[in-house]
Amino acid sequence: MSKTHDIAIVWFRRDLRLADNPALQAALDAADSIIPLYIDDRESDDSWRQGEASDWWLHHSLASLTDALLNVGATLTIRQGDALDTLRQLINTTGATAVFWNRLYEPFAIARDKAVKQVLKNDGIAAESLNGSLLIEPWEITTKTETPYRVFTPYWREAQKRLSLGSALPAPSEIKCPAGIDSLPLDHLDLLPTIRWDTGIAAAWTPGEAAAREKAFAFVDEPVRHYDERRDLPGVAGTSSLSPHLHFGEISSREVFLAVQDTHDKDDEGSRIFLTELGWREFSHHIMFHYPHTTDAPMNEKYSKFPWADNVDAKVHAWQRGRTGIPIVDAGMRQLWQTGWMHNRVRMIVASFLVKNIRAHWLHGARWFWDTLVDADLPANSMGWQWSAGSGADAAPYFRIFNPVSQGEKFDKNGDYVRHYVPELARLPDKFLHKPWQLPDMLAQQLDFKIGDDYPEPIVDLAESRKAALDAFQRLKELT
Ligand code: FAD
Repeated sequence: MSKTHDIAIVWFRRDLRLADNPALQAALDAADSIIPLYIDDRESDDSWRQGEASDWWLHHSLASLTDALLNVGATLTIRQGDALDTLRQLINTTGATAVFWNRLYEPFAIARDKAVKQVLKNDGIAAESLNGSLLIEPWEITTKTETPYRVFTPYWREAQKRLSLGSALPAPSEIKCPAGIDSLPLDHLDLLPTIRWDTGIAAAWTPGEAAAREKAFAFVDEPVRHYDERRDLPGVAGTSSLSPHLHFGEISSREVFLAVQDTHDKDDEGSRIFLTELGWREFSHHIMFHYPHTTDAPMNEKYSKFPWADNVDAKVHAWQRGRTGIPIVDAGMRQLWQTGWMHNRVRMIVASFLVKNIRAHWLHGARWFWDTLVDADLPANSMGWQWSAGSGADAAPYFRIFNPVSQGEKFDKNGDYVRHYVPELARLPDKFLHKPWQLPDMLAQQLDFKIGDDYPEPIVDLAESRKAALDAFQRLKELT
């Protein structure tokens, strides 16, 4: 059957996979041969330019995509520069007449893609964007009054009613590709660090579609059934750790969602709660799409007057380095630094500590996470930080301030997590592990442990800083 186009470009962005890739499938259906293209346009004017841990991931994910394409007879073309200029130049030199891509939802990506689509259409080029990242588009769900949702539970109830997922698309077994197209070598993008801080990350992760699929299906097979009991325990590998794979689109959330539904009963509690987490991913995109200012400003306007503390630099630095003197906070921040990832329960604890006990602006935390997380994702990160600060969608009420000691004692009861990431505390008995400053002198001597020397004293008094945060919220109430 003859096709509409001789040559089409598939513009890969954060959909670095062959399976269940709607843009790739649409191009294969429409054209005789395909140019798979990746454009490095990081120099474009974007204040949330990808961080260094994400650059590391991207390098390896592109290497994996290159190999996967070679296996089906195609070559990934890599270019650097402005996206529109690059596309037009490639169109001019190859005679391609169509471009396909999967949508992104960050404000700068939407603006760029709209402009690209408009110009290409004016040039007489077919330009088509598809949904390769979400279960449902952010604009497909509104409240009864036609406004976007701001609260998760009713959003997800409605979204589930409207889901129409069909089935996942298979990976193509062959892709015909025109020969002789110039490409930059991957190393030219300089995505890898020059100072080798990445050894812990490299030991913890295998980027790429093959690893993403293996991990996802192993998790869906059995561990997902225990997700409800284990997901809050940072010392146990009880969550999927799929976040960087989902962020870079190495596997689609649709495929993961369908696999869970096909494998387990509807009333399996672990599966149900796990699918709800994929719902939170959807919700974060819904919020970012409808409230794009939330990357930098509070969703709830009145929080722009919140009295943040002054002179927090030294404390923020101690927080970043895992030297706050609060064991569960330090364990989390060190896990982040060493592996590029942090357990969700601990993300909530360290975030609460930064914005409530230190009372530093949430953007200090969002920016640090942005640079150090391999799963740094603008919708999820902005929503997570605003939730913690009390200023976001469906936020925790301001008076809910996590006590990191009781959180540690509850969720890391036997101390496995803290002992792993804060080894200087490993010899402390469980009773004092989460509050080493209370270790009695006699016991401290026996253990040869000196607070202040072996491990920092707490940089804030938990009770006093809690009270100061509550006072600050009270002042905000009076101001607004
Ligand atoms: P699982 O528990 O296995 O969940 C499965 C998937 O659901 C995750 O991979 C993720 O894609 C999605 N998901 C789960 N929880 C959330 C959530 N609260 N919001 C949005 N999606 C969710 N997640 C990111 O992917 N990138 C971020 O930059 C990010 N920053 C965060 C910052 C803060 C302050 C907080 C509190 C949370 C943040 N999260 C972020 C959400 C959550 O912590 C991670 O998605 C989760 O820890 C990833 O681990 P997992 O893949 O094992 O998750």
